[in-house]
Amino acid sequence: MATDVTTAAGTAGLWLPTARHVPSPNHGPRPAGVQPWLVVLHSISLPPGHYGGPYIEQLFTNTLDWDAHPYFQSIRGLEVSAHFLIRRNGELVQFVACERRAWHAGRSCWQGHDNCNDYSIGIELEGLEGTPFADAQYPALAALLATLRAHLPTLRAVAGHEHIAPGRKADPGPGFDWARLVRLTGWPAAWFASTAPAAPTSG
Ligand SMILES: [Zn+2]
Repeated sequence: MATDVTTAAGTAGLWLPTARHVPSPNHGPRPAGVQPWLVVLHSISLPPGHYGGPYIEQLFTNTLDWDAHPYFQSIRGLEVSAHFLIRRNGELVQFVACERRAWHAGRSCWQGHDNCNDYSIGIELEGLEGTPFADAQYPALAALLATLRAHLPTLRAVAGHEHIAPGRKADPGPGFDWARLVRLTGWPAAWFASTAPAAPTSG
């Protein structure tokens, strides 16, 4: 099995052996009976536009020193997480077991369903909205999506934070090459927000 189980700070569940595990306390149960069917893509860099360094992992584990950089004042006290982070060099980091509900989407809606955190896997790409992502991130993301779908066959949609919270969020932004991701995954183009109908559907 391509799974292992952590205890201690982590939570039992699906932790990918291809990822470095940095368990976050910021998660909770999904609603009863809900299987994740959506992947939400984000971008993050701390401070914005600065790559590398420990700050993202510190933010997601509630260990960030809010006084370490002036920008951090604007996010002071934030308790957030995502299931995964893909760094500029393609390194994969996992913070939350896939079965758990991570805290990445906020107020959001996709295909008529509110609260995307309930039914999504959140993936952060180290980057800055509006600027290109690194070449190494695309194959790493495609490989992650393939692995996820092997374990979570209910997955059938991929959207950006900008699509599920339009007007409020803009990541990953125009620097993300959706067509490249569609090609690399081999998944139906209709699964991706960039090509899916914009109008919410019922059900
Ligand atoms: Zn986001």
